[in-house]
Amino acid sequence: MNSVYDVCVIGGGASGLAAAIYIKQKEREISVAVLERLPRIGKKLIITGNGRCNITNTDESLSHYHGQNPGFAEYALKKYSNTEIENFFNNLGVIFVSDETGRVYPSSLQASSVVDALRFTCDSLGVNTFVNCMVTDVTFGDTYTLKTEKGSFRAKNIVFAAGLFSGGVRLGCDGSILRLLKSKGEKSTVVTPAIVQINTETDIVRSLKGIKVNATAAMIINGKPFRSEKGEVLFCDYGLSGPPILQIARAVEREKGEKTVSLDLLPDSSTDEIISVLSSFKRTLHYRNLDEYLSGLLNKRLGQAVIKAAGLKLSSNVGGLSKNDIVKISSLIKNFRIKALSTTGFENSQVTAGGLCTNGFDNKTMMSKLRKGMYAIGEILDIDGDCGGYNLHFAFSSAFCAADSIVKEYKNDKA
Ligand SMILES: Cc1cc2nc3c(=O)[nH]c(=O)nc-3n(C[C@H](O)[C@H](O)[C@H](O)COP(=O)(O)OP(=O)(O)OC[C@H]3O[C@@H](n4cnc5c(N)ncnc54)[C@H](O)[C@@H]3O)c2cc1C
Repeated sequence: MNSVYDVCVIGGGASGLAAAIYIKQKEREISVAVLERLPRIGKKLIITGNGRCNITNTDESLSHYHGQNPGFAEYALKKYSNTEIENFFNNLGVIFVSDETGRVYPSSLQASSVVDALRFTCDSLGVNTFVNCMVTDVTFGDTYTLKTEKGSFRAKNIVFAAGLFSGGVRLGCDGSILRLLKSKGEKSTVVTPAIVQINTETDIVRSLKGIKVNATAAMIINGKPFRSEKGEVLFCDYGLSGPPILQIARAVEREKGEKTVSLDLLPDSSTDEIISVLSSFKRTLHYRNLDEYLSGLLNKRLGQAVIKAAGLKLSSNVGGLSKNDIVKISSLIKNFRIKALSTTGFENSQVTAGGLCTNGFDNKTMMSKLRKGMYAIGEILDIDGDCGGYNLHFAFSSAFCAADSIVKEYKNDKA
């Protein structure tokens, strides 16, 4: 292909499509091509938020972002706050609702509303989208040349919006662009799965498979509490899942040391309150066996697992419990520990922690500090957010910053 695009966006996902549209909205004259390796654009977006697309969050604290320098994201997140993101989509015909935790979803509760809005707007604004068009190489010169399965594309500006590994190759995410950029001298931090289930020692969890419990889950590293989250924890044959587990899993493959998940199985009661209840149970239920002792407090199988973890026999009599036994059972209910081994991997993760070192990029424009006209946006950068709409928010806000810069440079060149 001989023509030189003003902009080639590598990746037709959340950030790439938003950048392409924003550029065209601001300056129709700018020619924009989106190069997407999959047969469809927005394939990952369609499954986000369990098919509902949790696009942003009303809690905008920077503490929900991670990376070597999370402060890199601050400018973009403030400039393009959740209301700006909503406004952008309102103009594309999508309106939003938020739930009690601040998560914002399209009012249709269908991710397809968001993907369709992006797709139709790209078409109507004249964004050239090329699918089945994997970028395999880039050369730098006066203009950039991208080698793809559909031939070469030349562009004055290139925007890397190719994501990283999360969701795996079925969603187009195998880190191919990160590898390519590293081979060209770009620096990257270590990449690991985040927002992901945890593989644990299975002797306890396997017997509890399928049980859901409202708990506080804490990640303990070398005996010290690292992060905790409250919510519904799910026991699985491989380990633990559920929102609080996904939220604390980032540390599992990133931090050194021994990791344990501590579950507070009755987070709304203190240890003393539990001791008092269990002591009264001892008096009233003295004739029962221990396998029934906790069944009015916890899921029956879970209660039995606690009794076993306390080193007591399920067939023993409640009346035979000592004060120490009751204290031990109570502290196990508040601190039920399961050794974490690994995560279930990139394929199952919602985001990749790590990525291109942000110190190589300007935080206001997302432009490379070394290569004029080369941008990186979204997940490929070493910024990852918590579960709750934070990753899509950064994908969009970083896209708009890059788009702003491209439009500004274009207008300066024309002036
Ligand atoms: C199951 C799941 C649920 C999620 N739910 C939410 C949620 O509800 N809220 C939230 O905030 N975040 C969610 N996320 C995370 C969010 O989807 C990502 O952080 C976000 O999509 C990142 O946007 P991106 O544009 O950087 O990358 P992506 O959306 O991953 O897009 C990258 C695109 O680049 C393409 N590509 C890759 N390599 C090449 C190449 N060499 N050549 C051409 N194209 C290439 C890919 O095919 C892909 O289409 C979820 C993720 C998953 C996997």
